[in-house]
Amino acid sequence: MSIDLPLQAPTAAGLVWQVSRNDAAKSDADRDAILAAPGFGQHFTDHMVDVCWSEKGGWHRPRVSPYGPIQLDPAAAVLHYGQEIFEGMKAYRHADGSIHTFRPYENAARMQRSARRLALPELPSDIFLDSVKQLIAVDGSWVPSQAETSLYLRPFMFAKEAFLGVRPAKKVAYYLIASPAGAYFSGGVQPVNIWLSTQYARAGKGGTGAAKTGGNYASSLLPQAEAYEHGCQQVLFLDGRNIEELGGMNLVLVKKDGTLITPESDSILEGITRDSILQLAADRGHVVERRQVSIDEWREGAASGDIVGAFACGTAAVVVPIGRLLAEDFEILHTGDEAEKLALSLREELTGIQYGRVEDRHGWMVRLDA
Ligand SMILES: *Cc1c(COP(=O)(O)O)cnc(C)c1O
Repeated sequence: MSIDLPLQAPTAAGLVWQVSRNDAAKSDADRDAILAAPGFGQHFTDHMVDVCWSEKGGWHRPRVSPYGPIQLDPAAAVLHYGQEIFEGMKAYRHADGSIHTFRPYENAARMQRSARRLALPELPSDIFLDSVKQLIAVDGSWVPSQAETSLYLRPFMFAKEAFLGVRPAKKVAYYLIASPAGAYFSGGVQPVNIWLSTQYARAGKGGTGAAKTGGNYASSLLPQAEAYEHGCQQVLFLDGRNIEELGGMNLVLVKKDGTLITPESDSILEGITRDSILQLAADRGHVVERRQVSIDEWREGAASGDIVGAFACGTAAVVVPIGRLLAEDFEILHTGDEAEKLALSLREELTGIQYGRVEDRHGWMVRLDA
């Protein structure tokens, strides 16, 4: 049951949002208990957003409604052909209680690029940002305030037309859900071990590697399981001999002279965290190289002492130093703390900006609750 509130005034995107409040919303006490130890991706806020798209009507009927199951026809195209994309971003609570997000227009633009590749309609950036503001307007109290916590935002879009023929769907849904997230590292940032997958690839030339789509994740699960069997937390994928990325994080190598190298490839997902970290490093005077880099270059560089470390980056964990890369027939160990110190100090600066402790000199933050 929900109570329909009067329609709200049109927003920046010119759409009138219909808001139905969840009258079974969690009590303050229940919500506080969840926010005290939210974990990741297990609890969801009281509301969700959805916007419909049809070939004839375009984007229409934007609404905020009680969080709950989606009714889907069993023939919905997404269930058969995987026509789906998503995004991942966070809302951060600053010391004064205000709520902000980080570079949302980059997520909006990336979702449009993903949409093009998956033959889905592009959601205009202003509707994307409106959807986040609308959800925060009703669920702002779900943004936790302890150190390193956030409200994880998950926008996604899928083909909902009931039709088993193979062609782009003529009916699509965009949704936004939110889930409180605890500090990624509870006992301080720990280096991770990664497994080099040589048997499986996550993407191929001309494929969907540059799109944030569920299928890329589905294909990474088996190699990820192989990584666990080898005592590693993450898996690194190659394109031939060239380094690509981890299952859900980008990779950066650190040279002895402070140069940062990151793979350039049209089959990796261009992370906003990576772009931001590399910008902060460049601001400090580090040379940043975006180019093809092979596993052999990493291996030889580590052996000669020219490459002193590596780290992974993405929205969820921000920056994670890599302690060890394990392959079928060799391993690379990074035990020195030079690269780890750099990774952690860049992480500190980026999270400082996100939580409002460090000046936002690039204009990356967008306030959501005003
Ligand atoms: C989302 C994602 C990343 C990280 O992107 P961010 O914008 O930094 O969160 C990296 N690789 C893959 C495959 C991803 O899906």
